[in-house]
Amino acid sequence: MAGRNHLYVPGPTNAPDSVLSAMHVPMEDHRAPDFSELVKPLLEDLKKVFRTEKGQVFLFPATGTAGWEVAMTNTLSPGDKVLSYRFGQFSHLWIQSAQRMGLDVEYHEVPWGEGVPLEHLEQRLQEDTNHEIKGLLICHNETATGVTNDLAAIRRILDATGHPALFMIDGVSSIGSIEFRMDDWGVDVALTGSQKGFMLPAGNAYVCFSPKALEKRHTAKCPRSFLNIEDQIQANQTGYFPYTPNTSMLHGLRQVLNLLLAEGMDNVYARHHRLAEGARRAVLDGWGLTLCARDPKWYSDSVSAIVVPEGFDARDVMHVAYNRYNLSLGGGLSEVAGKVFRIGHMGDLNELMLAGAIVGAEMAMRDAGIDLKPGSGITAAMEYWRDTAPPVPGK
Ligand SMILES: *Cc1c(COP(=O)(O)O)cnc(C)c1O
Repeated sequence: MAGRNHLYVPGPTNAPDSVLSAMHVPMEDHRAPDFSELVKPLLEDLKKVFRTEKGQVFLFPATGTAGWEVAMTNTLSPGDKVLSYRFGQFSHLWIQSAQRMGLDVEYHEVPWGEGVPLEHLEQRLQEDTNHEIKGLLICHNETATGVTNDLAAIRRILDATGHPALFMIDGVSSIGSIEFRMDDWGVDVALTGSQKGFMLPAGNAYVCFSPKALEKRHTAKCPRSFLNIEDQIQANQTGYFPYTPNTSMLHGLRQVLNLLLAEGMDNVYARHHRLAEGARRAVLDGWGLTLCARDPKWYSDSVSAIVVPEGFDARDVMHVAYNRYNLSLGGGLSEVAGKVFRIGHMGDLNELMLAGAIVGAEMAMRDAGIDLKPGSGITAAMEYWRDTAPPVPGK
């Protein structure tokens, strides 16, 4: 098929051309005396994306899924109680990972489309006067439903109840795209992967530990070998890794950090918000459809899960989009399979790129028999983006 595939799954995201070029380098000696000159600044600059000065970031040649394990094995012991909420496929998988590791997982079901119920959380932490809960596992942005949780509010609850549980965050579809503040929000462990906000191929997990979480490695008894941060701490000190890193990706990461930090993290968040808001105008005002996220307070700026009308199968929309228009949309996972399709709007993106996804989704929905006013989605998005366009320099 001529032309580009339009990639709007919520990860892997579109990689900037300069990042792709940066990775196109010969293989190299990862023990060379000057290799540390590449690595040390990477580890320092990663902290700026996590918004931490006190924390330490580790880089594993693995995916976000391994990040869950890095977070838990290095801080907890088998049988330790952790508290979590299940409100989508990714919060579900993290809970499953914790169970597999032998943790005692107390989790509560939340309707998919909602986020962490703050009153419930406050009550559970208050009741836990003996501090049996050792960790609180929260998926910041549930990629399956397009729901973002208010981590600052959760931190306030931890503080108000004086609860010492480790505050652990899956930030795979938030860090590097939507607002995340490790230090300000008192996060103890935050993890992400390379193929979402970081605009790289899958294959790196970035995991940040607070000083408090770092200390836990001395008492945590979960078995760990490859994912042991102790080995990383030793090797990272001199700018190396305990085993062979993916050197091409490190060069890509260098370029990603250059781009993100030049734009400024606050500007990155603002750009994602404005683009996402345009997509939401298309869905809500243009098409008159609903989002899986049930309340605006949960709307995600990195992914929108769009509910197809009763009697239609979202999978038909996705198939038409891919086969007829070369547009990749995200599918509905598990409980919401067939009910929603997703537009990922994170990473290297501008208005006109996202316009392609909106137009393609509208054509595919109409082809699948959904009755929509032609052009209604993109009109709503265009008008919002025009109204909020940044001033042209010099005018
Ligand atoms: C994509 C994703 C994951 C899984 O990451 P992998 O890199 O595929 O292992 C975990 N959590 C969230 C919130 C995600 O979006």
